[in-house]
Amino acid sequence: MIRGAVAETALGGGLLAGGALLGWMAGDAGLGAGLGLLAYVAWHVRNILRLIVSLRGDGDTPESVGLWGDLFETLHRSRREATTTRRRLAQIVQRFEESSAALPDAAVVLGEDGTIDWCNEAAQRLLGLRTPRDLGQRITNVVRHPAFVAYFNGEGERSAGVEFPAPQGDALMLHAQIVSFGQGRRLLVVRDVTQGRRLEQVRRDFVANASHELRTPLTVIYGFLETLVSDEAALPVRWRRPLELMTQQTLRMQRIIDDMLMLAQLEGDGGQGADADVDILNLLQLIRGEAIALSGSRGHRIEIHADASLWLRGNEAELRSAFANLVDNAVQHTPDGSTITMRWRLQDDSPLLEVQDNGEGIAAEHLPRLSERFYRVDASRSRARGGTGLGLAIVKHALARHDAQLRIRSALGEGSTFGCLFPPERALHRAPRQAPGTA
Ligand code: ADP
Repeated sequence: MIRGAVAETALGGGLLAGGALLGWMAGDAGLGAGLGLLAYVAWHVRNILRLIVSLRGDGDTPESVGLWGDLFETLHRSRREATTTRRRLAQIVQRFEESSAALPDAAVVLGEDGTIDWCNEAAQRLLGLRTPRDLGQRITNVVRHPAFVAYFNGEGERSAGVEFPAPQGDALMLHAQIVSFGQGRRLLVVRDVTQGRRLEQVRRDFVANASHELRTPLTVIYGFLETLVSDEAALPVRWRRPLELMTQQTLRMQRIIDDMLMLAQLEGDGGQGADADVDILNLLQLIRGEAIALSGSRGHRIEIHADASLWLRGNEAELRSAFANLVDNAVQHTPDGSTITMRWRLQDDSPLLEVQDNGEGIAAEHLPRLSERFYRVDASRSRARGGTGLGLAIVKHALARHDAQLRIRSALGEGSTFGCLFPPERALHRAPRQAPGTA
């Protein structure tokens, strides 16, 4: 820079002095100096023109001396850096495009109002998007399945995503999830879950079919065993105990198969019947009768505190199965003479059924796994009491079909409370058939 300024001064001064000297020799130093200055200005004008031409992109960066030399060199350097940066960015973009094209999942970048800004190749294959035709369109104009549109509009839980058949045909099952990023931008990620769903279906069908096939032979065996056991006097003494045990175990197998069939049914697409208006107090009274019979000589006290005017929109058979399982568990897993309370009321507009017992309770580490199939705190005790290990799994599935949640509160030595919390829109209010309160 300093060198440029020195050269510049030398050049300007040289032209001026040279002009003056030549002019002096020709007899007019002033004219000579003026011509020298003119030459200097002309040189500047020429460099300005070269700069303009170069900035317009018509040609290489020119070369010069003095300050113009410095300026042209700086321009040349920054151009070279810009070219390198551009090349690097182009490489990054190319690498991103290659990797996003290799992704098996569809990725769609959505603008603030849900318009498609960008999508990868998988999005074109899975969702049928076409670029550039669909860029700028609202995603719900292109993917119109009601489940997806409802999810996109914010109905249901965002983090869970949504499943729906591919727009091009029902053969593909897709799972979509939306994540937010940047300012008001969203990324839609769509996965092909066809294979997983097919395997799930195969597993469900297998369990349902196997359970169904086992049911008939077991019924026959149980029937014969019961006949044999009923005439105990006619049996040789050494056969009595084995036959009694065989009858018990056959009954247990029957219960397991019934529960597996029930679970398969709950997991299946079709329900047992359409939703109806269910009188829950009436249902609880029926369940109480069965639970008293189950308790028998064990003497459990079973109470109902219910809002008789509160009914529920749901599937009566599934609700009965869920509630009865909770009450049966309370009978099975609490000591003789324990008190079991069923409560039915609104909690902040949400219908809530609670089954509370004052038994031994469950240690905290078991609670998260309790509703898994065949998970038991004490397997041998559960079996001895006729438990199948599937009761709470049935409860969870039956509740999920009603958009309800199972909430378990328990502590060792303090008893347990199993709550079924339904969404407010399932609540119905009816004139009570009997006075509300303790039934
Ligand atoms: P099971 O047929 O064994 O009752 P469930 O799925 O219904 O199977 O219950 C799973 C386990 O949860 C039971 O084995 C038991 O250990 C525990 N459990 C369920 N309900 C209660 C309760 N009211 N009190 C204590 N433990 C319970």
